[in-house]
Amino acid sequence: MQAPVRRLASLAGMAWALPCTLVGALLGLPVLLAGGGVRRCGLAVEVYLHEGTAPAGSRAARLPFAAITLGQVIVGVSTAELDRLRLHEHVHVRQYLWFGPLFFVAYPLAGLVAALRGRGAHAGNAFERHAVRLSGAGPRDAA
Ligand SMILES: [Zn+2]
Repeated sequence: MQAPVRRLASLAGMAWALPCTLVGALLGLPVLLAGGGVRRCGLAVEVYLHEGTAPAGSRAARLPFAAITLGQVIVGVSTAELDRLRLHEHVHVRQYLWFGPLFFVAYPLAGLVAALRGRGAHAGNAFERHAVRLSGAGPRDAA
């Protein structure tokens, strides 16, 4: 694909995913207000609560997930977890760019199908399996 066409396609994907990105920004806002930080990484903005690792026993360390992606916003408990899960979460960013707001329906439906097949709503979810396949990172502690 030629560079201008690729750039236009990228902008179209970002516009398509914008409603999801805004939801991600809403989720990231309280993290920032609680003293967290933000940084840009490729196509995403990463929001985190702790620099380095989350302190053992902290509320963030006890969350059932280490990072979650909504549109082009990745919210993680710490920079260490964002670094560890970056490839996996960036697959989800690309999924949002492809599916846009439909991802908010497609992802839960894929989880329902996986659960009905006895594979687990998260680990068996086709979007998670895709992210694991491309990143090599498991879904156990990534969302
Ligand atoms: Zn995932």
